[in-house]
Amino acid sequence: HAKQQGRGASLVFKPGMNEAIEKRRALEADLDRAITRGEFELYLQPRVDAVTADIVAYEALLRWNHPSRGLVSPGEFIPVAEASGQIVALGEWVMAEACRLSGGLEGRRISVNVSPLQFRNSRFVSCLGEVLKETGAKASRIELEITESVLIEDDKRALQVLEALKRMGFHVALDDFGTGYSSLSYLSRYPFDTIKIDRSFVSNLGVVDSAQVIVRSIIALGNGLGMQIVAEGVETIEEALFLTQAGCDELQGYLLGRPVPVNERLVEVRPVIGMQLKGMAEAVRCG
Ligand code: C2E
Ligand code: MG
Ligand code: MG
Ligand code: MG
Repeated sequence: HAKQQGRGASLVFKPGMNEAIEKRRALEADLDRAITRGEFELYLQPRVDAVTADIVAYEALLRWNHPSRGLVSPGEFIPVAEASGQIVALGEWVMAEACRLSGGLEGRRISVNVSPLQFRNSRFVSCLGEVLKETGAKASRIELEITESVLIEDDKRALQVLEALKRMGFHVALDDFGTGYSSLSYLSRYPFDTIKIDRSFVSNLGVVDSAQVIVRSIIALGNGLGMQIVAEGVETIEEALFLTQAGCDELQGYLLGRPVPVNERLVEVRPVIGMQLKGMAEAVRCG
């Protein structure tokens, strides 16, 4: 009886709900046409060595130039594409595009976000193999960023997929670390090359007392396990200096460079920031 009531309740439409559903449907229909019409574009955001300030990699971030709505952010359309399954085709496009770009980045790596549905797709690994073959890209130039949510769902299979990706030569990163159901055992169980500390911890650095302790602990843990640590969402020089001093390997964020179209990509960060990071690294070394 309670179940029946529950089912009935879910049929009650709240005001505004129809509109939300309509909007979602419209977005889905537009997404179907967007790939063939060439409306997607990858933007690149630099990842910077925390000591030398050299750009060592770029993260590829998807942008949708919608014909009537203008630039639509991934925060809006990725969840829709994920729910509808369209993310699989979209993810293939992203991967192929990243592979094509990967040869022209002065040897720097490109990192690509992989959605949970894409990762769980049975053809994911073979599809990546085909894209490598078609584009002639080197897997070692590409880092795949996955989030903790893919690890919870199917432990054993997730490990097999990650190991297959490593055998193919890809680097793998754990994105948004600390936001999901973080388990420390993930870090030793899965073969990650890189941990990306979520932006929420970085933006709390000067605000919440515990943030500094947490960030230091993640860096110590990751480094102890032989992984590279990248801090996401670095916006101020104070955050950057703290992270460099704490032993973080790479910095990413608006301070170093925003995501921009491929042909506008940064090849060097602002010299003043480079000098400050090097100065901090020097100060730490001299004790
Ligand atoms: P993410 O992978 O964690 O990417 C980092 C996000 O933080 C990007 O947002 C980036 O523009 C933003 N960001 C970087 N530095 C700063 C900063 O200093 N301050 C602030 N406030 N934000 C910063 P974006 O491009 O809107 O992407 C949002 C999310 O959408 C990504 O989070 C990722 O989960 C997803 N996404 C983006 N592109 C793709 C894609 O090609 N495939 C998939 N599956 N997901 C994607
Ligand atoms: Mg990412
Ligand atoms: Mg992230
Ligand atoms: Mg994030």
